[in-house]
Amino acid sequence: SMSTAEIIVSVLGLAIFAGIMVVCITGYTLKKRSVSKKKKIKKDVDYSDASDAISLKLKKIVKVYGEGENAVNALKGINLDFRKNEFVSILGPSGCGKTTLLNIVGGLDRYTSGDLVINGVSTKHFTDADWDTYRNNSIGFVFQSYNLIPHQTVIKNVELALTLSGVSASERHERAKAVLEKVGLKGQAHKLPNQLSGGQMQRVAIARALVNDPEIILADEPTGALDTDTSLQVMDLLKEVAHDRLVIMVTHNPDLAEKYSTRIIRLLDGEKTGDTNPPADVGFSKPKNEEKGRAAMKVGTAFALSLSNLRTKKGRTTMTSIAGSIGIIGIALVLAVSTGFSGYVNRLQSETLSVYPLSVSESTVDLSDFDKLMHDTGLEKFPLVEKVYTKKMFSDLTNMLKSNKLTGEYLKYVEDFAEEQNAKEKDGWKYCLQKGYGFDVNNYIFANINFMDNVSVMPVDQLVYYLQCLFDEGLKNSEMNISSSFVREYIPTMSEIPDSRQLIESQYDLLSGEWATEENELLLVVDSKNCVTDITLALLGFRTLKMDGTNYEKVEFGGDEEFTFDEVIGKEFYYLDNDTRYSYIGGNTFFQNYYTLDTLPENAMKMKITGIVRIKESVSQGVLDTGLAYTSSFVQKIIENNIDSEVVSVAEAQEDKTVYIKSVLDTSGSAGRANSVRKLAGSDQVTKLQIYSIGYEAKEEMKTHLDGWNDTEGRSEEDKVYYSDSTAMLFSALNSIVDAVKIVLIAFTAISLVVSSIMIGIITYVSVVERTKEIGVLRSIGARKKDISRIFNAETFLIGLFAGILGVLITYILSVPINLILAHFIKNVGNIAALKITDALILVVISFVLTLIAGVIPARIAAEKDPVVALRSE
Ligand code: ADP
Ligand code: MG
Repeated sequence: SMSTAEIIVSVLGLAIFAGIMVVCITGYTLKKRSVSKKKKIKKDVDYSDASDAISLKLKKIVKVYGEGENAVNALKGINLDFRKNEFVSILGPSGCGKTTLLNIVGGLDRYTSGDLVINGVSTKHFTDADWDTYRNNSIGFVFQSYNLIPHQTVIKNVELALTLSGVSASERHERAKAVLEKVGLKGQAHKLPNQLSGGQMQRVAIARALVNDPEIILADEPTGALDTDTSLQVMDLLKEVAHDRLVIMVTHNPDLAEKYSTRIIRLLDGEKTGDTNPPADVGFSKPKNEEKGRAAMKVGTAFALSLSNLRTKKGRTTMTSIAGSIGIIGIALVLAVSTGFSGYVNRLQSETLSVYPLSVSESTVDLSDFDKLMHDTGLEKFPLVEKVYTKKMFSDLTNMLKSNKLTGEYLKYVEDFAEEQNAKEKDGWKYCLQKGYGFDVNNYIFANINFMDNVSVMPVDQLVYYLQCLFDEGLKNSEMNISSSFVREYIPTMSEIPDSRQLIESQYDLLSGEWATEENELLLVVDSKNCVTDITLALLGFRTLKMDGTNYEKVEFGGDEEFTFDEVIGKEFYYLDNDTRYSYIGGNTFFQNYYTLDTLPENAMKMKITGIVRIKESVSQGVLDTGLAYTSSFVQKIIENNIDSEVVSVAEAQEDKTVYIKSVLDTSGSAGRANSVRKLAGSDQVTKLQIYSIGYEAKEEMKTHLDGWNDTEGRSEEDKVYYSDSTAMLFSALNSIVDAVKIVLIAFTAISLVVSSIMIGIITYVSVVERTKEIGVLRSIGARKKDISRIFNAETFLIGLFAGILGVLITYILSVPINLILAHFIKNVGNIAALKITDALILVVISFVLTLIAGVIPARIAAEKDPVVALRSE
């Protein structure tokens, strides 16, 4: 049978495997598209220090959007040189290609043909990473619509570009603070963008563009959304900025261009129509920031960005986490309940198994074949023939009856194994063996019975005989009869205490006195209600048996129906051996001596009750019957004492190994009761071996060991020994049912887990759509594709983590009412719903792994978004 862990691992393993496959395939196809050849960029340039030295050179830049009939020629072969340090305005009507030009210069968009030469280096063979580095190190963008990230504070917005270039947190903070001060926003650092005016927001945008100290600032209609006064302030700021770098500003306000810039370029329909101050061609300037590292977002930044985004959408995040947790709750509950239930079944099994041991008798029926016999006839069901067939039930059944030889060798084989296994156990018990010898201990324990105004000493067996008389009288006129063996079968009187203290102590509480350990010590076993049977009551001497002469008709029990512990502890019984008990009459007949307390012979062994035990509340059935319990050493003593007794040797001498015993009560003149050598405790040959095991597994191991005896090479058929296990079929069925139910439930809940993962994927996709603008901004300040996907992966990871933790918490909370309800229906069930901490942790991991997988595709989509399109989106 599969363990819970194996089932989870296989079901979820499959789900995760499938998810990973999907992700790999998608990732691979997307990656293939974005791969660009890396070539070494030539840098053998002779730099010029002249003030006209060129930092950027646009050579016949053409930009075509779309294809075929829908193609738009946005730029039609632009040649332009920019100085290292000037304030350029680009003027032109709407739609003439200004933004396109700016985006190409900023590395945000790619030219269709031509070349952009940066400080003498051609960008023809730039990789995505090269462009990212270029944007991050050399470019600062300022947009008309500010494009601040709404869920980040002013200072965080400014810090972002530094974060991307891997500057330490403290330096980042200092630099951002300084630059905010420079643009006149001291004291506004911790506001959110929507708490600022338009002019202030544009200042933040300029601060963000400046913070990385780039060589080029690109401003796309920076005053387009501002009133005149504010516009002038922003222009002043840009002019100041342009003191030591190249500022290219797009505008359609010629007045502003005239007033502030050092050079005006006019565009019309994708073509340059004018340039007021083109530089002389004196060579390229030296790049300022050449040694800067590559832009790379730290994982922590991705998490911080996602966390702040999730914080602004608390409602949605909560809903998503709850939805995502449902699958986890499902699996967690199934796990919790099935773990608890397995525990319950195991407990039930070990209890039941100790009560129903494996047993090996001198004769046994191999029931495992019986099942086959019932079903395997090899005949067709509901045949359309007018014939009746036969099943070989009787002959097969007799064939199944096996005769077992419980030889000393066999017993040693079992005992050695049990001992060896017990030695390995911490508390020393795994198996407990009990042997039967074919005689009834009831015949050897004598009780004091108030009988006919005497205290007579009478074995249990005899007492039942009186009872029988009573019943016979009651049933005199009916056809029914009741036998002593019938009474004895249904009313327990005595049982043997298994030799393992651990086994007994695991099932019984000692209510009073001490455990019986010696051969002359007895326990009184009461049931869960502190009850014993009326026969036991009589045995204990609490009842008076009245009889009118030898007339059975007046036999009746009388006396109290309850007694205290103190009255029982120390209560005396006697053991009488065969020679004391039986006197030879002659032939094959003995007479049973009758004793009262006064006439009791001296060699009678006194026995007494040392303790009272009761079954534990958690145990549904124990190994002991209610009544008296004796030790196995007492059984050994009976055999030792009687094996050479007179009655045994007379029985041995008889052809049928039987003697007849008459009692004083046998008034009918019959031959008396027949007794065999065995019944007289005259043989130490084991007739029955019972093996108690600590649990199901232990029992199976023992069965394997017992099978090993039969499988030994050279074992003849008649030396083979067959055991019977009455509980085997029941439990193997129960186990497979539990497993099947578990698998079905886990499969169902796994589906809900997949569904919730898909939902989280969709929600992430919605988030991607919503944050398109932010993606564009991040790309414009140098974030790599990888960084964008990292942000969304961080977001799904966080949602998955919340969902997992929430699911586990809810499961723990739900466990309380579930346990209360189950406890109401099943006795001693304990805490069925009990999620193991390890399972809880595994589930949290599974939750975020699944949502991560679910989010990979939307994150990839986000990363692949064209930054230009993303920035244009509203
Ligand atoms: P401007 O900024 O001067 O107003 P743009 O550079 O935005 O003009 O656009 C130039 C031309 O290119 C316009 O006709 C515009 O419609 C077109 N265009 C810009 N971006 C795209 C695009 N992504 N797809 C198709 N056409 C575009
Ligand atoms: Mg524009």
